[in-house]
Formats: sequence, C-alpha cells, structure tokens
Amino acid sequence: MVDTHAHLSLLEERGIDPHKTLRELFANGLEGLVDVSLKPGDLAARIGAFSSYPRVRFASGLWPHAASIAARHRLVSALEAEILAAPPGLVCALGEFGLDHHWNEDGERAGPGEERELMEMQLELAGKLGLPVIIHSRDAPEETAEILAAFPGTPGVIHCYSYGPEEAGRFLDMGYFISFAGNLSYKNAGTIRDACVMVPPDRILLETDCPYLAPVPFRGKPAHPGMTAETCRMAAEIRGVSAAALEKQTAANAAALFGGF
Ligand SMILES: [Zn+2]
Repeated sequence: MVDTHAHLSLLEERGIDPHKTLRELFANGLEGLVDVSLKPGDLAARIGAFSSYPRVRFASGLWPHAASIAARHRLVSALEAEILAAPPGLVCALGEFGLDHHWNEDGERAGPGEERELMEMQLELAGKLGLPVIIHSRDAPEETAEILAAFPGTPGVIHCYSYGPEEAGRFLDMGYFISFAGNLSYKNAGTIRDACVMVPPDRILLETDCPYLAPVPFRGKPAHPGMTAETCRMAAEIRGVSAAALEKQTAANAAALFGGF
C-alpha cells in the first residue's frame, strides 16, 4: 500500500502522533508515502521531521491561496531554490498546485488569469526540474484540462479526484494518473465512483489527503495514512477486483510515477 498524498505535519494538531502512526504502518506493510506541502517554504522543515523514514518522499508546490497568487513570481523562484537545496532523491514531485473554485474563492478574486499563471509557472518549473506534478483541481475541470493540455507530456496525477468519468477521460488521454481519496466513499460521490470504475488499472492511485477526508466509517474524524486501506477496499469493490490486487497495482503505479520508494 502507498499513500500518495499525506500532510504529515498537520496530523499532530489533530491529535494524531505522526511518528507513532508511521512506525506502526511501516511495520505493517506500508510501502511508501508522499508528504505534500501546505505552505510556501515548508519543505526543509518537513524533510527534517520525516526523512528518517526510508520510504517517505516529499512534494512541494504552491496551493492557489490569494497570498501565493499575489507573490507568485517571488514564491516560484523560492520553490525552485528549496527543491534544489533538498538532499538528492527526497523530492519526488512538484505539488500540490492547481485551481480551486470550491473552498477557495481567492483564485477568482485575484483574477482567473493570475491563478492560472501560478499554475502555469509551476508546470514550467516541473518540466525544468524533471519532476512529475500533483494537481489540485476543485470545481474547475475544464480550465484545469485546458492548462494541462498546453504542457503535453508532463507526468502527473489529478489528486483527490472529484469529477466524473467524462472529465477523467480527458485527463487520462493526456497521460495523467487519477488518484482517489476517502471522499470516494461518501454518499453523494456517485460520479466519482463512476470515474473510479473506468480508470485503467495502470493509471489509478490511492491517497488519504490526511488529515482531511477520512473515508466512511471514519468520516468526520481526522484521517491518517493507514486509512488508505479503507479507500482501497472501497475502490476494489467498485472495480470488481480484490483489495489485495488493487493494493499491489496502485503501489506499482505510485512507484512508476514517483520513481520508487
Ligand atoms: Zn492535499
């Protein structure tokens, strides 16, 4: 099992000891984990806290907050510098970054052109650094696809997938992986489940996005990386395969995208 998207540094404030959790999970077969940034400039601190676990790797990117959109030129340069300063091999992706018109009205307030530019600048940087991308996209499927189409051949994942099968088809055609989180199990997530059925076996990933989006039956509680197993069980049921087979397949897919753990 690989959790391809966790925010380890948020677990503690939600009452979960990340070190205890990681020790237990790695002892019980967790094969890898990608720790994803929350705010600009946090990569060194996250590496300091979690790089002692051999199968934890790191992604850094600029979420489309208003402050990041406004300071995009300075922050994208700083992002490049912090990634280049990291010990070799630890950073496996650029992200998460993208468009959010659901939780975050910042992008729209800042002007869609500026939010878009922050995304484009990071796609350019990923190409320059030779890193895959972790794309965040909420309530903006068309614009996301349009921007990604301008950077053909970029390896990456649409994380915490929240759209339907039609949109998935468009991202898959561009070569993206599709990653499902605990919201796959929510009552109103019928279209996400429809998408989960049609993603080819070699393009599906699993994640928790912890501490957010705990799957049923843990909904409402803080999520931790071990809950990837619940999402795997649910996705396997939807796809009509065994959880063990999906676990193996998604771990192989994660290694293919992120370069191993
Ligand atoms: Zn996230």
